Amino acid sequence: MLKQFGKPSSALLIQKHSFFEENALHVEKQREIAKLYTAQSLRKHCKNCAQELHVEADFIKDSIPYKICQTCTHLNGAHEDTQEFCEKIYQEDDTSYAQNYSSGTIEDYEYRTASIYFPKAEFLFTCLKRENVNPHKLSYFDYGAGSGYFVAALVKLGLANVTGSDVSVAQVNLANRMFTSARLTSHSIDDGHKGLEETKAEVVSMIGVLEHLQTPREALAKINANPNIKYVFLSVPTFSLSVYIEMLDDNIFHRQLHGGHTHLYTEKSIDYMCSEFELEIVGRWWFGTDMVDLYRQIYVKLEQKHVSEAIKNDFKDRLSKFLDQSQLELDKVGESSEVHILLRKKNA
Ligand SMILES: [Zn+2]
Repeated sequence: MLKQFGKPSSALLIQKHSFFEENALHVEKQREIAKLYTAQSLRKHCKNCAQELHVEADFIKDSIPYKICQTCTHLNGAHEDTQEFCEKIYQEDDTSYAQNYSSGTIEDYEYRTASIYFPKAEFLFTCLKRENVNPHKLSYFDYGAGSGYFVAALVKLGLANVTGSDVSVAQVNLANRMFTSARLTSHSIDDGHKGLEETKAEVVSMIGVLEHLQTPREALAKINANPNIKYVFLSVPTFSLSVYIEMLDDNIFHRQLHGGHTHLYTEKSIDYMCSEFELEIVGRWWFGTDMVDLYRQIYVKLEQKHVSEAIKNDFKDRLSKFLDQSQLELDKVGESSEVHILLRKKNA
């Protein structure tokens, strides 16, 4: 297995500036989603393993109760992400969703592709090389492609047969404007993952997607049953230090575990998923933004306390000395807020 740890945070800090500067706006949206989410029916079964969840909540954060699955250790929100919930947060607000997750200009798009998505594509490429397969001979399908950043990164690597699909028409249109010919198509949110069922691609990627799906187990079952698919490249958010930081204060934006992310993976819950759906981990890259979250937590708090500019700058200077080094220590022991994994289908 190819194991990789860490990634510098400087490009991310530039691009996620709004989380620092517009905290109140993000908290307001978070609160709206939390209100909608807690109005949904109770989740009885674990999102990852489908076993019954216990009744008592393990903790409550921004009014949402959470439970740790006693079978697979997956962290579950206590309410269901119902059809109504998913449609409201992913579809009705299509335009503003595209505004959050995309960028208007070609320059911003390319910088985001290069700094955030190209390293992911390169990791996938290197893992495949180590599997003794020629990545150029494979075809790729990015499911939940959003604005097409990962598709763009794969194309940048020289891969030719790359397509993707997303539920957001606004994002698909934006993505296709960035390519010489259209590579993305849109699909309906409730089509039973037809894209995964019918794809001819050997490599399916889902970058920050599985945790947003209403039926992640159904998606994995479709992948398992499709004989064309040989590899699955995933990035999922994890139950990490960031969640404990979020428990401290409901008025500082919860990036890791909020209404849109209604459940989080653990190393054990990923192992459970792999074993159930006959997947073998052939590459794993741990890197996260827990220390950036801690940095932001303190920074926003300082702002709320109206400290001087000098103090804010002093804090920034001190943090920047050890931000990446300290995160790397978390990454090295698998304690990061996110993990990228390349899975080989055992039945392929
Ligand atoms: Zn479970």
